[in-house]
Amino acid sequence: MTRKIQIFDTTLRDGEQSPGASMNSQEKAIVARQLIRLGVDVIEAGFPASSHGEFRAVEEIGSIAGDACVVCAFARASEQDIDRAAEALKSARHPRINTGLGVSPTHLEHKLGITQEECIERVAHIVGYAKRLVDDVEFFAEDAGRADQDFLVRVLQTAVDAGATVINVADTCGYSLPEEWGARIADVAHRVVGIENVTLAVHTHNDLGMATALALAGVRNGASQVECAVNGLGERAGNAALEEIAMAIRLHGEELGVHTDIRTTELSRASRLVSRVTGMSVQANKAVVGANAFAHSSGMHQDAVLKAPKVYQIMDPAEVGAVGSEIILSSRSGQAALRHRLVELGYTFADEEFDDVYQRFQEIAEQKKEVYDEDLESMVQERSRDVAAVYTLNALQIQCGDPLVPTAVATITDEEGNTRVVSATGTGPVDAAYKAIDRVLTVHGDLEEYAVKAITRGIDAIGEVVVRVKSADGKVYTGRGSDTDVIVSSAKAYVNAINRMITTQRSHEGY
Ligand code: MN
Repeated sequence: MTRKIQIFDTTLRDGEQSPGASMNSQEKAIVARQLIRLGVDVIEAGFPASSHGEFRAVEEIGSIAGDACVVCAFARASEQDIDRAAEALKSARHPRINTGLGVSPTHLEHKLGITQEECIERVAHIVGYAKRLVDDVEFFAEDAGRADQDFLVRVLQTAVDAGATVINVADTCGYSLPEEWGARIADVAHRVVGIENVTLAVHTHNDLGMATALALAGVRNGASQVECAVNGLGERAGNAALEEIAMAIRLHGEELGVHTDIRTTELSRASRLVSRVTGMSVQANKAVVGANAFAHSSGMHQDAVLKAPKVYQIMDPAEVGAVGSEIILSSRSGQAALRHRLVELGYTFADEEFDDVYQRFQEIAEQKKEVYDEDLESMVQERSRDVAAVYTLNALQIQCGDPLVPTAVATITDEEGNTRVVSATGTGPVDAAYKAIDRVLTVHGDLEEYAVKAITRGIDAIGEVVVRVKSADGKVYTGRGSDTDVIVSSAKAYVNAINRMITTQRSHEGY
């Protein structure tokens, strides 16, 4: 039997720290359910001390996960943070606190303003403190990729002696090269006394495009937990991509002597879900989950692949779930058929909620003849985005064309139930719609990015619009809207971004 590598997923914590990728607690719950279906060993659910919303999300994921996996909460090295993390984890069957400190000279001097000795003292104190609240304590050594190796070993030894169950060596800035990183991990595995009783983890970043290579170098040299995120989401250039790690280990498990428990057929859906929820699109040539990952366009390649796929394919698209579903629903599909398909996709609804979902499904099915899984996912996820709607777009009427002046009339209801009809002209239909909507808003947002794409094939496909809107304090909020009419999608996406801006700002009040 090969050695099991634990997959620690940080899509909901490090991943969510990507600009504009923030998720509300309902969305985090949807992603968490998919992570459980994927079979991850640990879900890092969030950073409870950062906001009320985060606190609630960690709480909720704790109760969703049950025995399926460990639920981890992030905390800075402070007693208050650790208290909040422990509190948020009360609902979790298998709770873990992840706390740590910078260990490189740069972090010690410029971020923390402490000496090496003070760092050691703090590590002992903070791990001991967390250990009194939960059994399972992970200690991360931040920026270990640029740390003095002897000092790193001392820090990790201190954490192990203070009761850490997991020690996580983090190349926070994605600085290392795979071979020297592997040597660091081997040295830690060799020198830290008692390492055999704890889990050795690696947390790697993609600043030089080597996050996956670094994670695997860690695995080769003794790490048994890999920290990663779906689509490689994360700070800056991102974390190691879960799908890359899972497939690399699947293909090379024998020579590495390791395996994971990831159900790889769920990878494509996880990728789509995370992309849709965060508004971070996946580049077409992304390994494993990109739109072109299994596309062959040159005639020579196509010819060869038709004869034998393995000529140019190291993995079967079906293995990562990249094969489109055969099941197509239509307006003739009954409630039972819809409910059945949604359950298979992982969505369950209470009866009164389901009526609403079915009605929306019928609307979509009337507009387009064939309703694919991707359409259903988009429909269900749009519902979860608008749970805390401050503004609701009830109706939108557009007049445009050449030589008309593009004009929009929008009907919008606010959370107090006041409905207003507003109109505006613009340079085009989307501009007119946004200017009309702006008339009722109490906040201001600058449109930074606008993108539209078809969810499925065909001229009647649902058009999904993703916008990124910047608030006055410089934060970016992602909005998404879908409809068979792209102008309506555009207006929904804008209202959605504004709603998220307002609810996020409210959830941070008091912190
Ligand atoms: Mn990180």
